[in-house]
Amino acid sequence: MSTSSPPDPRVPQAGPRSASQAPATPIPATGTARDRGAPQAPLAGGTHGPDALRPLLGLVLESLREGAADRGGPFPPGGPEAIAAQIRQAVEPVLPDHGIGAGNALHRLVRAVAYGAADPADPLCAAHLHTPPLALAVAADLAASVLNQSLDSWDQAPAASEVERSVTRALAAEVYPHAPQPDALVTTGGTESNQLALLLARERHGAIQVICGSGSHHSVQRAAWLLGLPAPVTVPAADGALDPVALDDALTELPGPRLVVATAGATDTGRIDPLPEIAAICERHGVELHVDAAYGGPLLFSERHRPLLAGLERADSVTLDLHKLGWQPIAAGLFAVRDHARLSPLAITADYLNPDDDTEAGLPDLLGRSLRTTRRPDVLKIAVTLRSLGRDGMAALVDRTMDSAARFAQLIEADERLELWQRPTLSTVLFRPRGAGDAQTAEIRRTLLMEGRAVLGRARIDGRLWLKATLLNPYASSADLHRLIDLVIDVVIELVEGSTHR
Ligand SMILES: *Cc1c(COP(=O)(O)O)cnc(C)c1O
Repeated sequence: MSTSSPPDPRVPQAGPRSASQAPATPIPATGTARDRGAPQAPLAGGTHGPDALRPLLGLVLESLREGAADRGGPFPPGGPEAIAAQIRQAVEPVLPDHGIGAGNALHRLVRAVAYGAADPADPLCAAHLHTPPLALAVAADLAASVLNQSLDSWDQAPAASEVERSVTRALAAEVYPHAPQPDALVTTGGTESNQLALLLARERHGAIQVICGSGSHHSVQRAAWLLGLPAPVTVPAADGALDPVALDDALTELPGPRLVVATAGATDTGRIDPLPEIAAICERHGVELHVDAAYGGPLLFSERHRPLLAGLERADSVTLDLHKLGWQPIAAGLFAVRDHARLSPLAITADYLNPDDDTEAGLPDLLGRSLRTTRRPDVLKIAVTLRSLGRDGMAALVDRTMDSAARFAQLIEADERLELWQRPTLSTVLFRPRGAGDAQTAEIRRTLLMEGRAVLGRARIDGRLWLKATLLNPYASSADLHRLIDLVIDVVIELVEGSTHR
């Protein structure tokens, strides 16, 4: 057993390892309303909710700790079969005839899922834009779950809707400091935000032709497909960033309503398209511009790095994710528009949610602030994070992360066994062992993953396959970065030895 803390007397004690040891402990009853019978599954809200939650949370936290300790690294070793077998034990039968109790179910499942998790808080877990969330944001998210406000109508979220109003206004003003009426919607992430961008452009201009860089996110293609628009025209990217001359040519050749989608922080490379040039070309052609800043957007918080986003405010709309650089638990997306009026096509009335007479009587009409109906207050954790850290706190996290990536790239440059693609723009570093072929590069990544040693991504750039480190952990140390390199080199040596022994 990995735990050394004394058992919490309030917590139903479940066995640490196996199902058979774990007593089928009923969850603690709230002890009230005996005449109605103590609830077997008490509710989370109200004045009694916190008392019902406390022992369960204690158990959840302990299970998380145990799972992470059992794993002891960034990723569970053994590959899909080993993990599936382990999880089946914890989850099946999924719907037993008689419940095993909250204590058992929580402990076994949370521990098993924590053990089998890719842990973005481990600096060696650096494949994707998969952020390690801040503890304070997770704590706020718990409150969002407990309160369970739904942001589709004011009578389900009187205060949370006001939090959302303040936060979206403030963040819209970060993106558009000079616009008179900027606005922003909270989304589930870049995919939904990009979809909204294409939808609203289509509502204004009809069947638009989307033009984007070849490094743009696949959600742009999917949004065009979903909306019945022609497949986007992709403009070549030089060095990973959209080539403005090629964009100018494409706009000259393609008539009709168009929307240019530029990227500020490409998923594969972290490259930022040359936004001022692109904005100027769009203005000259009278074409609207959407910037997908899902990755790079939070550079706005950093005085040091904000200049990289120059030109962003010239876009008609902007995608921004805070579950990447922003350290929020999923989901925390934003879709910002320069002019609030751009959102008007989303307005809709449903008599049970926002009847006209309620709206005329002054009740806020929330339904037009999303394509979703039931919608959780993801904004609460964002509000708590921004208030808690402030601009300088957010900037410090951004700056540390950017510094880590720069340092990692320097280490690679200084290592003659490795080849660096280019110095990073954001926190993505592409590299490969010198002389390695694509197949070997792919095998290195897979070996590290299967053995749970490190989690790296991959990207095909300039016709070659690269290992991709997407560094999002602001607390990664130099030792962690060295270790990541050592792990790659170890595998290279193992693979070479393995092949010579064959
Ligand atoms: C991550 C990402 C997206 C997709 O965002 P989700 O939050 O995963 O839906 C879109 N564009 C870019 C550039 C991204 O990095």
